[in-house]
Amino acid sequence: MSAPQSLFDKIWQRHAVVTRPDGAVLLLVGRHLLHDGSAAAFRFLDERRLPLHDKRHTFGTPDHYVSTAGNDLASIGEAFRRDLVSGMAENARKHGFTHFGLGDPRQGIIHVIGPEQGITLPGITMVCGDSHTSSHGALGALAFGIGASEVAHVLATQTLWQSRKPQSMRINVEGKLGTGVTAKDAILAIIARIGTAGGTGKVIEYAGPVFRDMSIEGRLSVCNMSIEAGARAGMVAPDENTFAYLKGRPYAPQGAMWERAVAFWRTLPSDAGAAFDAEVTLNGNAIEPMATWGTSPEHASAVTGAVPDPAAAPTAERREAIASALNYMGLSPGMRMDEIPINRVFIGSCTNSRIEDLRAAAAVLQGRKAKVQAWAVPGSGLVKRQAEQEGLDKVFRDAGFEWREPGCSMCAGVNGDLVEPGVHCASTSNRNFVGRQGPGARTHLMSPTMAAAAAVTGHITDVRRLMAGEA
Ligand code: SF4
Repeated sequence: MSAPQSLFDKIWQRHAVVTRPDGAVLLLVGRHLLHDGSAAAFRFLDERRLPLHDKRHTFGTPDHYVSTAGNDLASIGEAFRRDLVSGMAENARKHGFTHFGLGDPRQGIIHVIGPEQGITLPGITMVCGDSHTSSHGALGALAFGIGASEVAHVLATQTLWQSRKPQSMRINVEGKLGTGVTAKDAILAIIARIGTAGGTGKVIEYAGPVFRDMSIEGRLSVCNMSIEAGARAGMVAPDENTFAYLKGRPYAPQGAMWERAVAFWRTLPSDAGAAFDAEVTLNGNAIEPMATWGTSPEHASAVTGAVPDPAAAPTAERREAIASALNYMGLSPGMRMDEIPINRVFIGSCTNSRIEDLRAAAAVLQGRKAKVQAWAVPGSGLVKRQAEQEGLDKVFRDAGFEWREPGCSMCAGVNGDLVEPGVHCASTSNRNFVGRQGPGARTHLMSPTMAAAAAVTGHITDVRRLMAGEA
């Protein structure tokens, strides 16, 4: 009898084309996703007169450089950004891959579109020249980001060299998340516990009752941030929730192929006794709504907690890191989390811009007014349309939010949507590094409901108080 295998082992084994004596493995790539930062890879192909190897399994959309003020080329103010977006459309025409371009109602952030269209499927390998490709593991795929030269290699061959098989890690979250505690809080709590190096180079499988009970949207938020724990990829075993989410999506298998696919997908979850190189367990009952106070995703605390005092840190290195983060963020040691001011709010990004995120934020905003400048940026045209059909756009607008067009927007600001220096921004994105949202910008990561609560109070706020009816 063969040894028990994990979900990761099974997918890796099925896609390993050849293993070299030095341990390097050539992997078959199931789906290749492209965004508007892929120009260099296409230049590489053109210079060598190479064709795109597999246009059927290559999909792209512009997201990083598009304007969120309008969804056409003319809305993009700067020529270099327009060139990147129009260049992608030109490459799609030339090479014949599927492209959800500007003006297409399906355009949006590539990590929102993949699952939404049923391009992301259990058991496949999936790559994209973007580190948050880890998101797609939520559906039971092995999905990870690759560099520009690797993008060119995949375009030309639909394969990818990996120097060795990554190590594996299982993170179990037992119990049940409480009222007002979301998937975003769970992943921030995990990163606060294991640190940004806690999963370095590993493929994480999220397991246990909290993830079994979690929606696919929630799993996407969790797997999205695996990279912030240093991991190569994150994944959740496919289950009935996964199949229900995928059924009927445009690029998912149909008819008899659907039945065959589901039968195969049921074989994918990790076998009892499968080995992991590392294992961590958290108690989901103890997780509270979270927010970050510093300049790393591990600088996170429960909203009921306080900003740390560097003097209490156990090592000089840690003391220096905390002091430097507090200096950049303009915060004092020991101040309560709910005393941190918020001057701007961004609800969006590939972490939290799906319909479930917008519904949850709108439920908090209903009948309330934002005290600060606030934006809601849907993750795709289809999310935007669905939200408008449900009247969520009106809730956001009535609360004083700007209702924008789909794109990455203020997550990294490469389209020009920037946070001003010194401004504290409650953001549902995934990175709070120095300058991530603009030079001098101060980012506080949190869930959509916590961001909505911060918008109406002007400071970090325990959303559970608003959910309980506090004005
Ligand atoms: S939303 Fe942010 S993290 Fe996600 S793909 Fe765009 S820039 Fe990257």
